Amino acid sequence: MSRPLVAHIRLDAFRHNYRLAKAAHGGRALAVVKADAYGHGAVECARAIADEADGFAVAMIEEALSLRAAGITAPILLLEGFFDVSELLDIQIHNLWIVVHHRWQVDALLAAHLTRPITVWLKMDSGMHRVGIAPDQYRATYERLKNHPSIAQIVLMSHFARADEPESGHMLQQLETFHAATMGIDAPVSLSNSAAVLGWSGARADWARPGIMLYGADPFVGKAGASIAEQLRPVMRLEGGIISVRIIARGEPLGYGGAFVADRPTRVGVVSCGYADGYPRTAPTGTPVAVDGQLTRLIGRVSMDMLTVDLTHLPQADIGSRVELWGDQVPVNAVASRVGTIAYELLCHVKRARFEYSGQTIHQETI
Ligand SMILES: *Cc1c(COP(=O)(O)O)cnc(C)c1O
Repeated sequence: MSRPLVAHIRLDAFRHNYRLAKAAHGGRALAVVKADAYGHGAVECARAIADEADGFAVAMIEEALSLRAAGITAPILLLEGFFDVSELLDIQIHNLWIVVHHRWQVDALLAAHLTRPITVWLKMDSGMHRVGIAPDQYRATYERLKNHPSIAQIVLMSHFARADEPESGHMLQQLETFHAATMGIDAPVSLSNSAAVLGWSGARADWARPGIMLYGADPFVGKAGASIAEQLRPVMRLEGGIISVRIIARGEPLGYGGAFVADRPTRVGVVSCGYADGYPRTAPTGTPVAVDGQLTRLIGRVSMDMLTVDLTHLPQADIGSRVELWGDQVPVNAVASRVGTIAYELLCHVKRARFEYSGQTIHQETI
């Protein structure tokens, strides 16, 4: 027996979501699998769509090399490019694509003597103001790279700051800036993250870069987003078990700080999941959980290895009952919004759980 905390990863849902993203956007789609596929396991997720994915995107070369080592041969884009010129060797050897977002990278790339030309995604700062080449320097930077023997292909790229806030108008401004600065340049374009794929047909281009939607979480979080988001399937189901049950009397405190005090006799279940597993410590009393398929609530403070739930109305629930922390009945967005964060952060932080994968495609080995 081992501690009952399992992250069920449904790879058939991942594949379904990738197809949905690609169909919604049109053209080609890089599956964003940075941060170990948002906590789901990058190798397993990438393998699950290896036969149909147009490519993958990661944040750093270590992530790309572990995909290559696992047999992934599709294009892999490094979303921040290289951090040091010493990475250029592996980038060539392993045929990686790189984002170029700063002048120092352009200078370093053009000064390096590459034996193999590299595909560059030239990133523009069209209004997010985090990374990217300024719009008024973009064309000149493109011209410097174009026709240089070290550069294979150039993809024109930008990223939206507020694609999940259609009402802001910010995205339209970014689009206008991007189009004005790239007018007349004949090269493939990539603009859309998940929120833009789901909500903004105006941002469609040659390449989409969906991330969170592949894992089944709606970036619009219940705001008037796109109906297509309803077709997303959650990939992770985080499930703990009840390891202890007790009844506490009215007026008795529960757990650290006595943060919860029973206002009636309360049947308490202790669940094998805590903040060291990635469940947020700030989750308040009332955060939804599902015990053997029935919705109830978290009560008291989350501790490192355990949390407590209300079983008062669930007499069948007992030691061994299964508790969904998030997944199908409890959307990860529902937990995230209770604690003032986003699904991305919760999913990335899952650890210590046993990861169980289902829904792999069986690849026929040819002899
Ligand atoms: C992480 C990332 C994405 C994916 O964003 P989602 O909101 O998860 O779809 C796309 N593009 C870039 C540049 C990123 O860094």
